[in-house]
This record gives sequence, structure tokens and C-alpha cells, in this order.
Amino acid sequence: MRQILVAGNWKLNGSRDSIEQLISGITAGVENTGDTQIAVCPPFVYIPLVAERLAGSKVAWGSQDISDQSAGAFTGEVAGAMLNDFNCKYAIVGHSERRSLYAEDDDFTARKFAAARKAGLIPILCVGETLQEREQGVTEAVVARQLDAVINLEGVAALGEAVIAYEPVWAIGTGKTASPQQAQDVHAFIRGKLAGLNVGVADKVQILYGGSVKGANAAELFAKADIDGGLIGGASLDAAEFLAICSAGA
Ligand code: PEP
Repeated sequence: MRQILVAGNWKLNGSRDSIEQLISGITAGVENTGDTQIAVCPPFVYIPLVAERLAGSKVAWGSQDISDQSAGAFTGEVAGAMLNDFNCKYAIVGHSERRSLYAEDDDFTARKFAAARKAGLIPILCVGETLQEREQGVTEAVVARQLDAVINLEGVAALGEAVIAYEPVWAIGTGKTASPQQAQDVHAFIRGKLAGLNVGVADKVQILYGGSVKGANAAELFAKADIDGGLIGGASLDAAEFLAICSAGA
């Protein structure tokens, strides 16, 4: 069994005070989370604060996005080397909110994936279908296309050193969780597709589920053979709820 990873995506939320409190709450309960790997992804400006407070703890941290560029005239961007300066371990790329609200397509996401790797960060590559795509029966085709963009640019072996997060868009922030079996089916498809290219990569890669995961449904999701943890939005802003999800993986 692959190790469970629970990563919190705080999105555009928090203040210095609320993040101090959230970190204190998480670190206070972290000893009950067994060997679950834990990470949090704050807004960029709070990464130094989080890095300072979590240094030496079992909780890692990462960014919610990363520039596809490494330096230069790219106003508003944050480069991988800058994230390295604050010991980020992960960088989320291709979150559905980036894809839909900021028009980041598969190729751009693949370049961000490559930029994260180049900086020594572990990309968390988000993939997933919209409700319309699910209803049209093209879930697997959409996920395959999103994965292929990365495989074509970076090679399949790169996915063995990354994390994949399957996040059905219709389940993000909506309170509608994919059933454990619906999620497992897509996770198995992803692993099977990778196994067709490289069995070692398929065995190794952690595939997280994201979409309205809570303390109450995490254990059932994580019990599935191909679900190796979760990418958590809303519930990661509440220390007790986030810890309950982390403990579900222990
Ligand atoms: C997310 O933003 O990645 C996410 C899964 O959000 P939520 O848990 O709130 O559905």
C-alpha cells in the first residue's frame, strides 16, 4: 500500500492571525495522525510564515501555483526557485480553478509541472472532468488528455516523482463528493493508463482524491485500493476537521 498523503489547499483564504491559529491547531493534533504524510498550501504571501512555524514538524508545505517561467519580465509571477527559498516541498499545478477561471490549458499546466520539477519541487497535478463532461461520458478521455499533456512534455517517468490529484470539478466546494466507487474507478483508470506505459511509475505514484472530502467521508475514500489520500479545500481551513481527515489515513 502506498503511503497516504493529505494536502490542504487553503485557496484565497486567511489572514496572518487566522493562519497562525490554524497552524497552531494543526501542529497541536498532529501526533494522532500516524504515518499519514501531511502538507498545507497557503496563499503565496503566507508561505514564509508557514515555513517558519512548521519547520521541524511533520507537516510539509507547498504553493497553490507556480510560474512556468524561472525569472524575468513576468509581472505577478512566482518562480520555483523562490518557493525553494522557503523550503516548499510541493506545488499544485492545473487546479480546476486555474484551468477554468484563469484559462490555463493542458499545455500551460504541463509547462508549470515542468517548472516545478526543474526547481526540485513535487508537482501535485490536478486533473478532473466537469459535470457536463461526466454526463457526456467523456470523463476518462478528459483525464487522459490532461495526463498526456504532461507525459508528452516531461515523459511518463516524471509522473513517478509527482503526485496526481483527481478532482472532479462538480465535487469541488459543492458538498457533492464523488462516491468512493466513482472515485476509485477513475483512480484505477489513471493507474491503469500509467501502467500501460511504465508499471513502476503506476505502482509508485500517489493519486489523491479531491472534492468535498471531510472527516466523515475520508476513511471510506482512503480505504479504496487506488486512493492514496486527499487534496482538501474547505475542510483544510478548520484544524479539527483537517486533522480528522489526516487521522482517517492513519
Ligand atoms: C480543492 O479545492 O482542491 C478542493 C478539493 O476543494 P473542496 O475540498 O472544498 O471541495
